[in-house]
Amino acid sequence: MSQVFPVPAGFAEHAHVDADTYARVYARSIENPDEFWRDQAGFLDWMRPFSQVSDTKFDPDDLRIRWFADGSLNASVNALDRHLPAKADQPALLWEGDGVEESRVVTWGELSDRVNRLANVLKGLGVAKGDVVTIYLPVIPEAFVAMLACVRLGAVHSVVFSGFSAEALADRIHDAGAKVLITADEGKRGGRAVPLKVNADRALNSQKQVHSVVVVRRSGADVPFTPGRDHWYDAVLDAAAPWCEPVEVGAEDPLFILYTSGSTGKPKGLVHTTGGYLVHAGTSWRTIFDWHENDVFWCTADVGWVTAHTYKVYGPLLNGATSVLFEGVPTWPDVSRWWSIIAKHKVNIFYTAPTAIRSLMREGEAPVSRHDLSSLRVLGSVGEPINPEAWLWFHRVIGGGRCPIVDTYWQTETGAVLLVPIPGATPNKPGHAAKPYFGIRPELVDAHGNTLDGPGQGNMCFAGSWPGQARTILHDHDRFVRTYFAPYPGRYFTGDGGSRDEDGYYRIMGRVDDVINVSGHRLGTVELESAISSHPAVAESAVVGYPHDIKGQGVFAYVTLKEGFAESDALRREIIEAVRTRIGPIATPDAIQWAPALPKNRAGKILRRILTKVAAGDYDNFGDTSTLADPQVVDDIVQRRRDNS
Ligand code: ATP
Ligand code: MG
Repeated sequence: MSQVFPVPAGFAEHAHVDADTYARVYARSIENPDEFWRDQAGFLDWMRPFSQVSDTKFDPDDLRIRWFADGSLNASVNALDRHLPAKADQPALLWEGDGVEESRVVTWGELSDRVNRLANVLKGLGVAKGDVVTIYLPVIPEAFVAMLACVRLGAVHSVVFSGFSAEALADRIHDAGAKVLITADEGKRGGRAVPLKVNADRALNSQKQVHSVVVVRRSGADVPFTPGRDHWYDAVLDAAAPWCEPVEVGAEDPLFILYTSGSTGKPKGLVHTTGGYLVHAGTSWRTIFDWHENDVFWCTADVGWVTAHTYKVYGPLLNGATSVLFEGVPTWPDVSRWWSIIAKHKVNIFYTAPTAIRSLMREGEAPVSRHDLSSLRVLGSVGEPINPEAWLWFHRVIGGGRCPIVDTYWQTETGAVLLVPIPGATPNKPGHAAKPYFGIRPELVDAHGNTLDGPGQGNMCFAGSWPGQARTILHDHDRFVRTYFAPYPGRYFTGDGGSRDEDGYYRIMGRVDDVINVSGHRLGTVELESAISSHPAVAESAVVGYPHDIKGQGVFAYVTLKEGFAESDALRREIIEAVRTRIGPIATPDAIQWAPALPKNRAGKILRRILTKVAAGDYDNFGDTSTLADPQVVDDIVQRRRDNS
């Protein structure tokens, strides 16, 4: 039984959505989705109104996903122009650089001026409606400017995470067919320079596709510059005209391409379109974070991930909200950097990822208690299932026990949130993404495609379309249909396993491919890892299956200890005991390997497919490792596995 944290006293009275509203609006949104989404679409300024809300069919032989199709609009007008009369001099972005002495405030007026000028620059470089522009920038205001300048022209942005290598960048530029790249001289992370321009040049070596590069001066370092191809951002913006007429685009025209974080295999370029995505992003952002005018919002995600696209860039900007942007890492110059930023800007809504929470939790409470976090009202989590230990720490230590935690379940493919406890409406259960967002119909489906009723476990699917979902994988529509719509016809299949309890709360159990089958019992990795992480010595763990003569699959656990705990056989036995008590003897780990660090991708997610190979004693064929954050971690893990086998 999960502990339940009720909606905090007094919270619901001021919230956009309370429990009654949720029940009523949700029921209506399912009975008549078109009517619900038509209302929601009124949130945007349309250039040409749409006549039909949805035209969708989840049929693998004839897939159709179209929303507001004959409407037209411009994303930048919705994100900027319409806020200007009231907010030109108010802050849109509160930027903190990697170094503590670097910060900037960007007003709505300045942001709009920069966007218009850059749009004119891009136009001068030949960028037109439908063209793809690749953006390779750190978390600086210019990343926002670049995205919005593209969409002002009806061009399509493809943001590539600035931590990616030259090779990964080259692949993504090539796949997207971009002719223009926007990058910076260098990024800064944790006191170190990230050689963006050098990487970009390497990516552009021996190719003719990209003819122009716009370079933001971030660090001022001396970087290679190719006259004719490269342009300094400041110089070209100064010379550009300050107004650019927004280009009218159809609701179903593409807004951006985004490659998934690559946890499970080759990254896919998901294509998102304009009207439906903006409706879902803008309206859900305001609802799930319970944003009110004058609230300060901070999403820690990097601009290279979907979390940032939807809930750091478009969600807040469409609503005219002030956001914090932070370029650096949470542990530099010290482990209280994030908490100092929350205190400095009196952040009200703070949205981050379980991996970060777990790593900061390792440092204990002292770094937190030095800072005044009393401005916080709502906390959010995304990217992975959050284990109850980390949830409780986040709630108590960061949220002071008074902030609801919005555990948002969604994917690059889904565009915006699907499952979420809306803070004024849904009591929290740690580790549960809880309830469907409006208009969303979750279904648990068994291996034969039967929909399960009541409490149980199954494949996490969604019946019926929603406006924010991706329309295709670039150049690979077959893969799109095959992956998401063919497994269980009539539904969208997420690839994740899920469970539903007697209160109708959903919990994500991890990726279906990662489920471990021990003597015919199916064990979710999330549950196993949560049990292991409940031991006070454990900072983080990853569990995979490996071939076992008797059981079919055995449970292999990689465990990272907290500061101050030493590896020992006694500790091994205690951890095993913790799993036996929490889940049962069937889940007893067959092997525990100590891991000073776990292999993660650039988004901070554990790469289980690599750990599975290592556990099986296969040290060679790791597949696409371009998204791996630190290759050394894998070498260490392989070494330890070899030593022990
Ligand atoms: P790839 O698809 O390339 O393997 P990825 O799935 O990690 O990469 P994303 O689209 O960024 O790329 O992540 C979506 C996945 O993250 C979900 O399918 C789910 O497994 C996990 N996830 C995201 N948010 C949550 C959450 N709140 N609770 C549980 N799991 C989550
Ligand atoms: Mg995925």
